[in-house]
Amino acid sequence: MATTAINRGVLAIDGGVPVRRTLLPYGRQSIDEDDIQAVVETLRSDWLTTGPNVAEFEEAFAEWVGARYAVSFSSGTAALHGAAFVAGLRVGDEALTSPLTFVATANCVLYQRATPVFVDVCADTLNLDPEQLECRISNKARAILAVDYAGHPADFEAIVRIAESRGLVVIEDACHALGAEYRGRRVGSLAHLTVFSFHPVKHLSTGEGGMVTTDDAGWAQMLRQFRNHGISSEARERRGWQYEMVMLGFNYRLTDIACALGISQLTKIEANLARRREIAAQYAAALQGMPELLLPCVRADVDPAWHLYPIRLNLGRLPATREQIFRALRAENIGVNVHYIPVHLQPYYRGRFGYRGGEYPVAENAYEHLISLPMFHGMTDEDVGDVISAVEKVCSAYSQ
Ligand SMILES: *Cc1c(COP(=O)(O)O)cnc(C)c1O
Repeated sequence: MATTAINRGVLAIDGGVPVRRTLLPYGRQSIDEDDIQAVVETLRSDWLTTGPNVAEFEEAFAEWVGARYAVSFSSGTAALHGAAFVAGLRVGDEALTSPLTFVATANCVLYQRATPVFVDVCADTLNLDPEQLECRISNKARAILAVDYAGHPADFEAIVRIAESRGLVVIEDACHALGAEYRGRRVGSLAHLTVFSFHPVKHLSTGEGGMVTTDDAGWAQMLRQFRNHGISSEARERRGWQYEMVMLGFNYRLTDIACALGISQLTKIEANLARRREIAAQYAAALQGMPELLLPCVRADVDPAWHLYPIRLNLGRLPATREQIFRALRAENIGVNVHYIPVHLQPYYRGRFGYRGGEYPVAENAYEHLISLPMFHGMTDEDVGDVISAVEKVCSAYSQ
């Protein structure tokens, strides 16, 4: 007992007692009995893939985000591919995007045999910098793929203005931003095409799954064909044996089972967002006075959705490396993570495009200081308290 009390200030990485006994992940899904019931009912129904749940989920989703149309896909990555396709990206075209994102954002451009052109990010939000965007637009540019990093919407007024003056399509990778607001409008119709993911760490989970929203009826139709082999009508609309394949598509359909889960999860999205906002406020209140940390910025015109809570270490105030702090927090059983290794520094991108580091200094510098604290709606106040205690413990141990 006495040793426990003495060991409390000793870092777990140095043999002390960890702040918590079990690992708190950085993100995870919440599934309740209603969700389970919805899936079980579908398993007992006539439809496992494309059935009534698909249209119901799409309509409810479109309505909630404030878009005319929503088209479901088998993953967020498949949805990005669909958006890149309907935006018209083809061989020789360029799409401008952020390097500080998950690889799927840039990969969807390569799927279309077009070229991703990275543009550095703003130092505060870590979102695509509209000023740097303008000077990177060449006459090969066809689309801008903006990411809402951590759930903070990118600067869409500036981005859409630049895009419209140059005739470009704006695709929003809103995989972090379901429920985020920008100038009083919910993410979902700020860009020409908006992409969401339903991976378990995201706000709403269908296991794997994704969605594209748009206000354009023609694009919605093309997205439906693209996810179904390029066939012009869905199986259930067919009469007799006739169907027409009118373009080369894929099987990117989301199952009726997954859509049943999606419909049920969507009914809880508001409470989920409220909880994430509460957790972000608790982190900010507890950590904002610490000179060792830079907390995520929130611009005055947005209400973020808080997919992540990425802090940046002020390494000038901490005689330690990011690696040491990361390992020390993990040893305390806080499942911190890093979002993201800039895409252009991945071996594949280095090899194919010759990046060597140094091309995008703001993103690269941010990456070297970033640590994502746990953030998911199922976190209890005790979990939040454990994260705060561990951050304080680790920072004070290294500051001495
Ligand atoms: C999760 C995510 C994706 C991909 O979504 P999947 O559903 O896992 O395919 C794409 N972009 C970003 C920014 C993401 O966070």
